[in-house]
Amino acid sequence: MDYNRILAEIAAEIEPLRNEGRQADYIPALAEVNPDRFGMCITSTKGDQIEWGDVEERFSIQSITKVFSLSMALSIMGEDLWERVGKEPSGSAFNSLVQLELDHGVPRNPFINAGAIVVADVLLSRLDRPQEQYIEFIRQIANDPSVDYDRRVAYSEREKGYVNAAIANMLKYYGNLNNDIEEVLRFYFLQCSVEMNCRQLSRAFLPFADRDKKFSFGNVNLTYSQVKRINAIMQTCGFYNDAGEYSYLVGLPGKSGVGGGIGAVYPGRYAVATWSPRLNVKGNSVMGMKALELLTTYTHESIF
Ligand code: GLN
Repeated sequence: MDYNRILAEIAAEIEPLRNEGRQADYIPALAEVNPDRFGMCITSTKGDQIEWGDVEERFSIQSITKVFSLSMALSIMGEDLWERVGKEPSGSAFNSLVQLELDHGVPRNPFINAGAIVVADVLLSRLDRPQEQYIEFIRQIANDPSVDYDRRVAYSEREKGYVNAAIANMLKYYGNLNNDIEEVLRFYFLQCSVEMNCRQLSRAFLPFADRDKKFSFGNVNLTYSQVKRINAIMQTCGFYNDAGEYSYLVGLPGKSGVGGGIGAVYPGRYAVATWSPRLNVKGNSVMGMKALELLTTYTHESIF
């Protein structure tokens, strides 16, 4: 398959969408990013990279980090994790407060904000040096020691993080947060601030696609079956209330972030990352989703 040609075709075909959607601005630092960007990179299980566009510029991967956070928490807690957070699609916005109240403080899944805030609480309780160990794991999975937090983005989000603060307060009220609310939020915002470019992101998703290598990065070890299940949660919950649409159009387990990035996997073959900051109303990258839809359409490669 000539992936270089396919990526070029995709880039041409999504061009008319250039001005559709709006970049996230509820995090002030993200409003400063140039929205006219598009990058796409595939990393195969053999290690080859095929890329197009803005693949070197780093962006805030935001909720994509929820995949890494879940990986760490599952490795530490195993199945006990599911006593504190569910694994059902939410059908609601990623930052829904109403749903959390209806569910009595047990978030639907680890990929919405409420779920990821519980996961951050778990990591805070169980890691000796949470901030260091978290970024260390991400550097290992991305195979790149230069990956880091962008503390400016974390502070910026914290300053305006009213809804997430409300979510954390409600979790505490229902007895589903063990640590201090401010500490959990600080760690959660820091996680969301991790920066990567498309090359690094597709590389960091590769272990979720690779069926031959053990998922083992320092203290984070997952069985084949656990990796398969993380992919299942990406498929059903990775795009919030857009998960059905994304599954219908794309057919690859994936996770989006409000920085405009998407990481996805074609199990056994490759991981793919896209980045374009303009989002649809559900908080998912317009050009990124279209590019992945065209990728699976042109290649006939999807999990279905
Ligand atoms: N940091 C963002 C928030 O908590 C992450 C949301 C996202 O990427 N969907 O609102």
